[in-house]
Amino acid sequence: MPPFASSEHEFLGDVELTKLGDKDYQFTLPNGVKLKFGTIIALAGDYYGVPKQPICTGTDEQQLRSFFLDAFNTFYHGDKKEMEDLIDMIHKERQLANEAIKDKKSEVTALDGCAFKETVDSLKDTKGKYLELAKRNLDHFGADALLAYKTGHKIALEEAANGNLELAYIYEAFACHFLTDSFAAGHMRTPRRALYDVIGEDVGSYLSLLQHNEDGDEGLTVTNELGQTWTAYGDGHLFEDCSAENRIKINEAMKTAVAEVYAAFNSKKVPENIDALGIFKHMPQVVEEMSSSPLFIFQDGKIFSRKKVGDKQCHEHQELTKLNVGEFLIRYEAETVEDSPLFKQAQAGFKKLDAETKAIFRSHGNPTLFKRKKAVVATEPEQTHDSEHESGLESAPAQQQRPSQRCCGGCALI
Ligand SMILES: [Zn+2]
Repeated sequence: MPPFASSEHEFLGDVELTKLGDKDYQFTLPNGVKLKFGTIIALAGDYYGVPKQPICTGTDEQQLRSFFLDAFNTFYHGDKKEMEDLIDMIHKERQLANEAIKDKKSEVTALDGCAFKETVDSLKDTKGKYLELAKRNLDHFGADALLAYKTGHKIALEEAANGNLELAYIYEAFACHFLTDSFAAGHMRTPRRALYDVIGEDVGSYLSLLQHNEDGDEGLTVTNELGQTWTAYGDGHLFEDCSAENRIKINEAMKTAVAEVYAAFNSKKVPENIDALGIFKHMPQVVEEMSSSPLFIFQDGKIFSRKKVGDKQCHEHQELTKLNVGEFLIRYEAETVEDSPLFKQAQAGFKKLDAETKAIFRSHGNPTLFKRKKAVVATEPEQTHDSEHESGLESAPAQQQRPSQRCCGGCALI
């Protein structure tokens, strides 16, 4: 799920690059592609990476670095044509978002209607990789995003200290994907990795998407170590007026990050204590008492879901496990108003549930809800055994949905 849509990531990378010149400076990759700092941010993580090896899963500093470099190299040595097609797609997306804002329409709606499917269909190889990356996009959320960023930032500082400023900025741009994700509300407190570990890859990813979208649309009150407090919204809202303050905060953070890389180049030194660097003082932390109640919480190795699923002010939570997740989803649907943007996604998500969860749904004793759910999944072939249509459902909706407009992973999760 990008935290931000690709075009949003690109926009956020519009910062002055000391010594290299203005924000339109184009880096040249070994494959000959020329691209801006912001475009690298948009491509990193969402389109380039090692699907089965999220950076944050490195168990020590050495492994974290090697995972970051593996991910980076899929981009740095990427195929020229594929990369150019992706860049075209990002620019089309940006145009749609701009037009929507000009017409006072919702950016999310505009991006939902974008030509992503056609473009992605033309990227036969990338399509699979993109969806694979999205399924395990742990690097784009919370503490894991910070870890992925910190790993890349340190590599960028070292490269700069060695005198290779241009390559250092390319590393930094790749790392900044995860930095910018950290400013998208839907990526701040969603327990992405825990949902993945405790509930499982497909359903856990879908649940992450629900919280990602809820927090992103609702907005969260955040603060940072600089003593600033503001409201952050999620991906799909960056160009809207509600995100004006968040845009400024992200820009300030990006300027600090780039300035730190330049300082390392200038001094030929990497700061001893990376954690004490100014960039980390910009990182937003959710002020829970001033925000809505989270849909999911991870505590003591367990996942808890909001008791009154549809009530964002309900602060009671109960344990969520693989066994009661089907029941949770039924309540979620029942308590979520039908015209909510989440409702359609709930419909789409059901198609992706694994057979075990579907069986729980179907054995649930509430016939009214069951009936409604059947109507929702009308696209499924009736009377077909789960195992027979499972594979068809796995691929069809995934290809038809536009995975990236809402976030780097969240959106592509299902
Ligand atoms: Zn992302």
